[in-house]
Amino acid sequence: MSYNFRENIEKMQGYVPGFQPTGPDVIKINSNENPCSPAPGVFQALANLANPANAGKFQKYPPVMWDDFRKVASKLHDVPEEQIICGNGGDEILTMLVRCCCDENRPMAYPVPTYTLYPILADIQNCPVIEIPFEEDFDIPKALFETDAALTILCNPNAPTGTFVTPTKIAELAKAVKGVLLIDEAYADFAPDNCLKLLQTCDNIAILRSMSKGYSLAGMRFGYCLTSPRIAKAMTKVKDSYNINIAAQVAATAALKDQKHFQANRDLIITQRARVTNVLRELGFKLSDSNTNFLLATVPAATTAADIFEKLTEKNIYIRYFNTPELADKLRISIGTDQQNTKLIEALQEILK
Ligand SMILES: *Cc1c(COP(=O)(O)O)cnc(C)c1O
Repeated sequence: MSYNFRENIEKMQGYVPGFQPTGPDVIKINSNENPCSPAPGVFQALANLANPANAGKFQKYPPVMWDDFRKVASKLHDVPEEQIICGNGGDEILTMLVRCCCDENRPMAYPVPTYTLYPILADIQNCPVIEIPFEEDFDIPKALFETDAALTILCNPNAPTGTFVTPTKIAELAKAVKGVLLIDEAYADFAPDNCLKLLQTCDNIAILRSMSKGYSLAGMRFGYCLTSPRIAKAMTKVKDSYNINIAAQVAATAALKDQKHFQANRDLIITQRARVTNVLRELGFKLSDSNTNFLLATVPAATTAADIFEKLTEKNIYIRYFNTPELADKLRISIGTDQQNTKLIEALQEILK
């Protein structure tokens, strides 16, 4: 016991992921995963890979710069390949940018409430954080335009609120900040618009995308970043050399290629999102329109979030309850399949009877 870790590591708490229940009858709508199957091409590509004829692909290190995926993403988004950086999940994109930008004297800034991984990455890097509450209507807070942060992060659409700010407003933020602006678009697949077009006018932005939410590949771990050539170069310096395994590269490439499958699943989730929103409102929950694949709902006055959470858990329906002061009366519910949502609705009707 004579050793110590770095002081910031000794002091920090780690990230707490959503509970991962298992079992055949479980409805898991607590981590914003996609309830639809990945594209058929994903299974085909993985089956093709898992063949002794491809032994070399397992023996050798995977493509360092994710060539096949970058080609497909470059074409889809009309962004040059050298401006695309891939990560072992979108979370690794966050790690790369925090490594590039932040240290003891170079703070990170972001509006709250938001994704709780940001302060944890700051703790690891031992950089100060500037947390600024969102405006009442979840617009970008004024003070965020005026910090001395080396890295400003805006999650848009935001988690866990599901709210959205327009690219026009984000362009103003990009012009105002002194450092890099990271726009976390993990949920952009379900939103009315995104910030891709800002790449043409802003050289200090990085846009994060994830294959976990819109493309049903949370288990494969693949995310990517669309950014300026200069930021891409810096990220390449700090990334692990072979950061994404060959199976994840093959799967993500096949998934991104099948835009038809993606759009059909997205439309299905958006339809179900409207359905669950309406029913929750009828049951007395308060919630704003979501721009994501989840809802953040304030529970009816006569109930508590903890109680509803527990009763749903007893019925094998797992949603997210944060139990923090600002979210104490709220529940976050990911949009499931038609069938899962029906079971959720029936369970809530019974609980609130
Ligand atoms: C899911 C998510 C990510 C990235 O998730 P990965 O599974 O690592 O791709 C990033 N930001 C937010 C806000 C998310 O919800």
